[in-house]
Amino acid sequence: MTSERTFRIAAIPADGVGTEVVAAGRAVLDALAGASHGELAFDWTEFPWGCGHYERTGVMMDEDGLETLKDFDAIYFGAVGWPTVPDHISLWGLRLKICQSFDQWANVRPVHFLPGVVSPLRKADDTELDWVVVRENSEGEYAGLGGRNLSARGPGNEVAVQSALFTEVGSERIIRFAFDLARGRTRRKVSSVTKSNAQQYGMVLWDEVFARVARDYPDVETESVLVDAMSAKFVLRPEDLSVVVASNLHADILSDLGSALAGSLGLATSANLNPERRFPSMFEPVHGSAPDIAGRGLANPIGAIGSAALMLEHFGLADHAARLRKAIETTAGAGVLTPDVGGSATTADVTSAIIDNLAL
Ligand code: ATP
Ligand code: MG
Repeated sequence: MTSERTFRIAAIPADGVGTEVVAAGRAVLDALAGASHGELAFDWTEFPWGCGHYERTGVMMDEDGLETLKDFDAIYFGAVGWPTVPDHISLWGLRLKICQSFDQWANVRPVHFLPGVVSPLRKADDTELDWVVVRENSEGEYAGLGGRNLSARGPGNEVAVQSALFTEVGSERIIRFAFDLARGRTRRKVSSVTKSNAQQYGMVLWDEVFARVARDYPDVETESVLVDAMSAKFVLRPEDLSVVVASNLHADILSDLGSALAGSLGLATSANLNPERRFPSMFEPVHGSAPDIAGRGLANPIGAIGSAALMLEHFGLADHAARLRKAIETTAGAGVLTPDVGGSATTADVTSAIIDNLAL
């Protein structure tokens, strides 16, 4: 039987639990394709890059790695980092290198609450909570601008400067992206986050761009909230959120808060998108390599499997993505959960339950 559509995916499990959860996600996607009656197929190529590769070869990824990845439909990533390799080498040598080279300027991080998972936020009346953090992924506070030792004032008096880069083009494209996303959601609302009362250049530019872009979306509700107030709002009034757009640093912190509120970092999903589709986009769980639990079958695979659902959506396979999400929800609702969310199931137990529930 020939498949109607074959998607070529580069798998980069990388380090620690990354290898366990990528294997889980691949098994689930292959099961989904297997049940699609030839409608869908995934053609996987796995790359052995990461800290182990660095220790063997002195580089995190092959020199021609980016050239090789360029031709794939998507990248399915695990987690990078290991205690034996300095973080700046592992991160910049692989994950950030891919994000930057492929201009993945939009990082989408849904905050998704699952049945059966205890959350510090879940209300007694079981209010539906579901919002998404849109993170500017190419500039802002992580632009790497600055320096140390600018003045030679002697020991104990070193000076360091860390600058943030905000461009009108960079702010506008991520803000428009957030508005477009909001239009496809039940609640059409965008909350913009800054600290423009204290940071009077870049963040004020962002606020101005937000106000201007908002005029093109009169059907979308808006608010501008300072990041400190937004942190409180995540905890106290989460039902008021739909799309939250913020700079690289602020959205990084807020999305971790969101995933903790949803029950575990192990559940959190993420898409690094090149919205123009000139380069492949990358899908990965938010969590790191978790050396404390790696290799023991304890890793929660839901963050990685849910990220595969984001990849399906990116491929235009919304029905398949919805089916996968439903299988995740059924599995969690039945209490098949790893220890980080209060269960006693293994990575493999959760993965096979999700595969079984795909058939429902
Ligand atoms: P990074 O620096 O790469 O973002 P990190 O060091 O901040 O990562 P993680 O490696 O994600 O953090 O681990 C943080 C905590 O979350 C650890 O206690 C880890 O065991 C737990 N954790 C992370 N991922 C998972 C998972 N998939 N399942 C269960 N627990 C996890
Ligand atoms: Mg880490």
